Order: sequence, then structure tokens, then C-alpha cells
Amino acid sequence: FVDGIPKENDMEIKIGKIDLLHPPNDDDNNKGFILVKNLYLSCDPYMRGRMRNFHGSHLPPYVPGQALEGFGVAKVVSSSDPDFKPGDFVSGVTGWEEYSFIRKNEQLRKFVPDDDIPLSFHLGLLGMPGFTAYAGFFEVCSPKKGETVFVSAASGAVGQLVGQLAKLHGCYVVGSAGSNKKVDLLKNKLGFDEAFNYKDEPDLEAALKRYFPQGIDIYFDNVGGETLDAVLANMRIFGRIAACGMVSLASLSGPQQMRNLYHIIPKRIRIQGFLQSDYLNLFPRFVEYVTSYYKQGKIVYIEDTNEGLESGPSSLAGLFSGKNVGKQIIRVAHQ
Ligand code: NDP
Repeated sequence: FVDGIPKENDMEIKIGKIDLLHPPNDDDNNKGFILVKNLYLSCDPYMRGRMRNFHGSHLPPYVPGQALEGFGVAKVVSSSDPDFKPGDFVSGVTGWEEYSFIRKNEQLRKFVPDDDIPLSFHLGLLGMPGFTAYAGFFEVCSPKKGETVFVSAASGAVGQLVGQLAKLHGCYVVGSAGSNKKVDLLKNKLGFDEAFNYKDEPDLEAALKRYFPQGIDIYFDNVGGETLDAVLANMRIFGRIAACGMVSLASLSGPQQMRNLYHIIPKRIRIQGFLQSDYLNLFPRFVEYVTSYYKQGKIVYIEDTNEGLESGPSSLAGLFSGKNVGKQIIRVAHQ
């Protein structure tokens, strides 16, 4: 298993033949299997959690030596499931390989391509990260018009949509990101009111005080660690924190110092962890909402696409040093 943050050489590319007529370990006579050609794969920070044997995780660890699993957009080649036909487009969990055998599950979705929406958006804006932003912001943060919102990892797959949803809702929104290029995108393309490069701020608590002189009502936390601690000292009373992810902890093994945790008591702060999968009943509403704003030009979405399966290891590892600018995608094949 991987120690610390995943590195490119923790993964390897294997070239081999697979039997497209018979699923591996098929005890069930091919029943329910769908053979897909993978077109796009998604790099997501949670995949790091599957590279270690961590008891607190909600997903099982990867099996060393087997293809990674992750969200992808794919085209059905053949299927013994009557709900899927050759030529159908699907998004859901697939393998990091050219072709995969998959089975129906709650997050495997069939969709009809739309000329105005890139296929890869089903991994970002209209996929799991976009839905995380939607469910986390509206269901966990209980936002009200005019409130102040802070988003970390703000230019990433989830953060960029959180900021835009908050703006559409009438909030004041500030984002933090790890490079000046990302800060520029947040302010000039994604519509955030303000943004800053947290790596240029020696005192995060003071930086937040500058951007939120009256305090923060809502913090959408993608990173945890020092940022969360600095936010706690800047929260307003009855503030809400959506604990979405703690990507900054991927590189750390020792205990974390939370100097400001006591603020949650006098300020009556609500911190709620959540999983997007808790809210899947809202998925159709989310797709309708986001598609409509996207088509009106009121939502934009930035992707960072690398070509070929062989770019997978460096693309995935790059998430943990902030190499990705926007949603990290791997294009495996053209249709
Ligand atoms: P991103 O596209 O934002 O990529 C990860 C980003 O994290 C990097 O680009 C980098 O941006 C930032 N980062 C990396 N290391 C650190 C660090 N040490 N300190 C601060 N920032 C760091 O990823 P996603 O948008 O896909 O995911 C964002 C968060 O949401 C993750 O924590 C993820 O686990 C979580 N998540 C939770 C879900 C849920 O159901 N609860 C579902 C999906 C995602 P920068 O250059 O700005 O530092």
C-alpha cells in the first residue's frame, strides 16, 4: 500500500490481452455483465484513500496488481443486462483500462449525449464532483442570500462549482487555491468575489480576517488541516461547515494540531461531514439545475485533460501537489 501521497511510480502500466467474450471470475455465466469501451477516466482525491488499508474509509482498498477503479465515461460494446444496449453511453465506476466489464449499480447512469455538453462533463460538472458541490452546498450548508462563503481548493472539480452555486444564490464568495493562475481563474472566469493563493499567506487566520472582516457564515471544506483551523477562528456565530474532504491530510501521518476547535462551542458552529452518495435521490434535480444554468452561460466549468491511459499515474499523483487546473480528466479513447 502507498505511504504518504501517491507517486507516479506507485502505479504501473500493464500491457496484456483481455478476453472480451468472458468476464474475469465469472461464476454467474456472464449474467448482468456489461462490456464497455472506456472513453474518459476521472482522477479523484478519494482514490488515494483506496491505496491504503484504512479502517475509517467508506470504500474497500484497491487490490494491488489489479486495475484501479474509478469514475469514467464509457460506451457499451455488449451487454447481458437488458437495460443496456451496445452503443449506449454510461457514466459510473469502471476500470482504468481500455475495456472493462462492469455491472449495474446505483451510480451507473445511462445518458444521451448532448451536442452542447462535452461527454467528459459527466465526470465533473454533471458527475460525482458536481453533485458533491450541489448536495454539499444546498443540503449541508443551509445557505441564505447575502451570507458569506469561503471555499478551499476552490478551482478544483468540486470547489469551482460550489463558488458558482453560492454566487447564483446571492452570497459573497471567496476561494483559496494554490497558484496565482488558479486565483486569476477564480476571480476572472469563475465569478468569485475574491480569491487568494494560500501558499503566499504566512498567516491564514489574518488573511481570512482581511477577506471576511465580519466573519464567515459558511465554509465548504475541501482540504481540512491548517485551513480548517484558521477558518474556525474566523467563523460567525451559527456558522456552518460542510466537511467535504481533507485532501491536505493525504501527505501527513502524525497527529494534527487543531488550536481553534473550541470556537465551535461559543459560536455554536455546525460542522457536518457528508458523502454525496447520501443524496442520490436529488441527482435528477441537480442535472436539470446545472444543465439549465450551463446552457444559459451562467455556469462555466474548467477541465484539465491529459491524453492516454499512460498519463493516468502522473495525473492522479498530480492532484496532491495541485498540478491540476480544474477537473482532472484522462482521455482514453475517442468514440
Ligand atoms: P480537486 O480537483 O480540487 O483537486 C485536488 C486539489 O486539492 C488540488 O488541485 C490542490 O489545489 C488541492 N490540494 C492538494 N494538496 C493540498 C494541500 N496539502 N493543502 C491544500 N490543498 C491541497 O479535487 P476535487 O474537487 O475532486 O475534490 C475536492 C475535495 O472534495 C477532496 O477533499 C475530495 O476528497 C472531496 N470530495 C468529497 C466527496 C464527498 O462525497 N464528501 C465527493 C468528492 C470529492 P490547490 O492548488 O488549490 O492547492
